[in-house]
Parts: sequence; C-alpha cells; structure tokens
Amino acid sequence: MTTEQALASSLPAVSTGTAIWRGLRCRCPHCGEGRLFRSYLKQVDQCAVCGEAYSQIRADDFPPWLTIIIVGHVLVPFLLMTEHMGMSLEAELLLWLPITLLSVVALLPFTKGAIIGLMWSLALGGDETP
Ligand SMILES: [Zn+2]
Repeated sequence: MTTEQALASSLPAVSTGTAIWRGLRCRCPHCGEGRLFRSYLKQVDQCAVCGEAYSQIRADDFPPWLTIIIVGHVLVPFLLMTEHMGMSLEAELLLWLPITLLSVVALLPFTKGAIIGLMWSLALGGDETP
C-alpha cells in the first residue's frame, strides 16, 4: 500500500454534495486538496495528494450540456432585452457571440469538475468505489 492509498483509505466518507462542491472548485472530490485537472479539461489519472483514481470516470457530454443550459438561462434574458431595445442584428452578434463563447469556455471546467464529483460520489463510470 502506497502512502497515497493509505491516506485515501483513512479519509472520512464524503457526501455527494461535498463531492460536487469540491469538483466544482476543480479539486479532488475525495480529499478536496489535490487538483482535479492536469490541463484545461483533462482530468488527472489520480489525485496527487490522496491517490484517488479518476482516469476511469468519463463525463462525456454531460458537462457541455449543463454549461449550455446554464449560460443559455443566464444570457437569453439579456439578449431578449437588447432585442427589445431595438439593437441591430450586427450589434447583437458582436455583443453576444463573444460573451456567449467566453462564458461557455470559462464555465466548462467547473461544470466538468462538478459532474466528475457527482459521478465519483455515485461510483459511476469506473471500477473504483468511493
Ligand atoms: Zn485527493
């Protein structure tokens, strides 16, 4: 048993809400300390602090779907407001396309972390159990 495995087995059980919150912060859902991603959206194979394995968890399309739902619900009312104010189509495109793209790019790692936390907590998508 390695030091990380010993630490992982000594950690207290984690609730689903805590695992989601830790994932949302892009931290290991198990210990809350280690980084969950090694690059923009690439999750680590295992936590550098507690050794919990994450390479088997595949969030697939859930994080992009959730990100689109959130960004859509936040931005569409403002888009409709500018439409109602009589803004030209070109001006709306110049305003809302960059805001939408930046919002999606900025939010996606956090939603992916939350989904990985949820999946880890429910023991979905891998052989490892929490
Ligand atoms: Zn960890």
